[in-house]
Amino acid sequence: MADEHILIVEDEEKIASLLRDYLEKSGYRVSHLDRGDTVVSFVKRNEPDLMLLDIMLPGMDGMEVCRETRKFSSVPIIMITARVEEIDRLIGLELGADDYICKPFSPREVVARVKAVLRRARPAPEERTLSAGPIVLNEDTRGVTVHGQELSLTPSEFKLLKVLMSHPNRVFPRNDLVNMVQGYEFEGYDRTIDTHIKNLRKKIAALLPEREIISSVYGEGYKFIAE
Ligand code: CA
Repeated sequence: MADEHILIVEDEEKIASLLRDYLEKSGYRVSHLDRGDTVVSFVKRNEPDLMLLDIMLPGMDGMEVCRETRKFSSVPIIMITARVEEIDRLIGLELGADDYICKPFSPREVVARVKAVLRRARPAPEERTLSAGPIVLNEDTRGVTVHGQELSLTPSEFKLLKVLMSHPNRVFPRNDLVNMVQGYEFEGYDRTIDTHIKNLRKKIAALLPEREIISSVYGEGYKFIAE
């Protein structure tokens, strides 16, 4: 995702500018600090999306910076250490860092880790579902389950059920259902809706025989019955 803001905390100018180049080429916005004791106020003010944090720093060392940052922020942190043996110890300290990279590193590897950590940190998109008792309709997967069992629906049956379930107990005239399901007006098409409804009822009743889910309202249309 472009334009995410990465904070590099690194006192070695060469390493910092190398990282900056690679990250900027990958589409990230980059800030750089060369002291540990300026990090907390920077993070509070600017809320970066990820921090690359060196351990040996003037002012305040990286471990302390990590601990202090964790008191108020869940910003993903990748710690950079000069010694591979140090990584086990760092993990043992439970500083709350998300990943560790050892110097010398390849900038490509750093970019790959940054991407991976950012991906993990992104909140999962909320699934759009409609549910009524044991019936759950998932708009993203276009799946419907009854008591957890998958229902096999045609696209028209799925759309119909979705419309009806989105407003339980509301009566939908046949013509409205035709328009919503087919997307256009089609004279004399409302018998098809009856057929779809019949099939839909049959499929649901196979898994839920004890309840009427869709009822017809004489002369008016259909509704989904919420418990
Ligand atoms: Ca350093």
